[in-house]
Amino acid sequence: SDRKTKSKAAPAYMTFDDIGGQDRAKRELTEALDFLIRYDEIQRLGIRPLKGILLTGPPGTGKTLLAKAAAHYTNSVFMAASGSEFVEMYVGVGASRIRDLFKEARNRAIKENKDSAIVFIDEIDVIGGKRDGGQHREYDQTLNQLLTEMDGIHTSVHPRVLIMAATNRKEMLDSALLRPGRFDRHIEVDLPDKKGRLHILNIHAKNKPLSEDVSLDQIAQETFHFSGAQLESVMNEAAIYAMRDESEAIEQKHLSLAVDKVMLGEKTDRESTK
Ligand code: ATP
Repeated sequence: SDRKTKSKAAPAYMTFDDIGGQDRAKRELTEALDFLIRYDEIQRLGIRPLKGILLTGPPGTGKTLLAKAAAHYTNSVFMAASGSEFVEMYVGVGASRIRDLFKEARNRAIKENKDSAIVFIDEIDVIGGKRDGGQHREYDQTLNQLLTEMDGIHTSVHPRVLIMAATNRKEMLDSALLRPGRFDRHIEVDLPDKKGRLHILNIHAKNKPLSEDVSLDQIAQETFHFSGAQLESVMNEAAIYAMRDESEAIEQKHLSLAVDKVMLGEKTDRESTK
């Protein structure tokens, strides 16, 4: 019965088709992931195995979605943590949390009969910022433990582990993280262009009733510089406006109001943090 309720809900996994735009990022990512999948060939040719992929780009562009889709694509378990979790942890706690994360990833992969494990670390810059001036920070041990885990990955041992990380401040990262054998594969995840925006709007319109007058193409045109997360908000806010109007479907005016709201909301957020 447990299984029955689960199958009714939206699938728990993410695929590349659920991610709008980002064609180049998807292509580069699947090319890199094929290294993980075609491991035997990689080894035969003596190619250095892939251990880490860094996703870079502004917030809300789909980096987490890409990491989740990567897990599905490679038949891997997905484990996630965020750099910000490690702030204000007592010395040593962050390092043991990293150790546990990798241990659990391996255990889950074995238990769930998966080929590999993907460990995703969002906001990697928080723990992996430049260590200049020889200054000791409380999360250096956390970073050191992460580097130790990366160096200790034996790609010939089942289950294989791949580390994915995301940042919107790549220039802040300590060079130790970027060395060969660590995060040596970088994929840019930029704000979507108009075609990408339309694709994202369509994805988030799937479960919503749209009135005949709706032109998502026009909304894509008007949302220059919006991220995927903001476009998701536009569709959601438009549905809320439709509900307030007691309208059965989302109309173009609801979408236009939603665009203004999301645009304005972002502006006031930004101003208030200054
Ligand atoms: P951050 O750097 O802030 O963590 P991110 O790049 O990891 O952001 P996600 O967490 O992947 O962004 O995206 C946030 C939400 O925005 C998603 O859950 C989804 O609803 C929507 N979204 C973002 N990008 C896309 C996209 N390319 N296609 C579809 N939905 C998207």
